[in-house]
Amino acid sequence: MKALIQTLILLMLAGCAGGKANAAGTGFLQGIGDGIYVHYGEHLDIDTGYQGDICNISVVVGSKGVAVIDSGGSLKVGKQLRTAIAQVTKLPILYVINTHVHPDHIFGNAAFMEDKPQFVGHAKLAIAMRLRKEAYDKLNVKYLGDDAKGSDTVVPTLEVKDNLELDLGGRTLKLTAYAVAHTDTDITVIDSKTSTLFTGDLLFIERTPVLEGDIKGLIAVLGTLKTYPVMQVVPGHGPQTKDWVKTIENEQRYLNAVLTDVRANIKKGISMEDTMDTAAASEKDKWLLFDVANRRNVNTIYPQLEWE
Ligand SMILES: [Zn+2]
Repeated sequence: MKALIQTLILLMLAGCAGGKANAAGTGFLQGIGDGIYVHYGEHLDIDTGYQGDICNISVVVGSKGVAVIDSGGSLKVGKQLRTAIAQVTKLPILYVINTHVHPDHIFGNAAFMEDKPQFVGHAKLAIAMRLRKEAYDKLNVKYLGDDAKGSDTVVPTLEVKDNLELDLGGRTLKLTAYAVAHTDTDITVIDSKTSTLFTGDLLFIERTPVLEGDIKGLIAVLGTLKTYPVMQVVPGHGPQTKDWVKTIENEQRYLNAVLTDVRANIKKGISMEDTMDTAAASEKDKWLLFDVANRRNVNTIYPQLEWE
């Protein structure tokens, strides 16, 4: 009898923990607002040690269904996400949105095929995914090993040309597409109910911003984001914040430092290799993964600015 009571108490405790998870998250997902959950990726480079789980993944739950904003870097992460969503709601997954083409944000898409959602992305995302498929498949095999299996490229079924609104029931998501900035496939998402802006990799917090597209374009887009009437921001990497204007200004300060130093070195005839070691030195202690990301950024920016 005593054993039975103990078992019942344990079951009740487990039940309470399950109930609590619905409100606060699942372990994989953390609640950050009314019907909004975020999974925070680790601050790792796509290099040795990359495990497919480095970007932020967000989930927005309406009265009709669910939207996923970025799906992680592998089928495995996508499946973990799908399981975690099932623990917070039984509603269908209506949309899987990719904020841009980078591999850490898109390869969880495959986990949602059976839900038959609309896959949503920038008007240029499908072509960018197809162009990069071979390279990204190789990259996934190299770093993810078995987890690369089934991490198929799933292209958008719904394109964002400039603006697009998605109705989740009781809340809408407003999607906006941009000209070349972090990449040539960047979109942002604003949730109407909580005034939350999801920036994708237009904004990095804590770790060094990465630039693949156009530095002047990115600085301009950050200026636009600052004008949005939102309450909180979820960046592509790093913690969500209500002090978001400051975090955008931090990134602008870094980008302007790189831009100024690269321009000055080009003018003085200093090589790209030497510039990679010295550009934006004033920012070095302010960001994680600085050396590798900053060198890569100079490698992107220097050849572009030579033609200014
Ligand atoms: Zn990115």
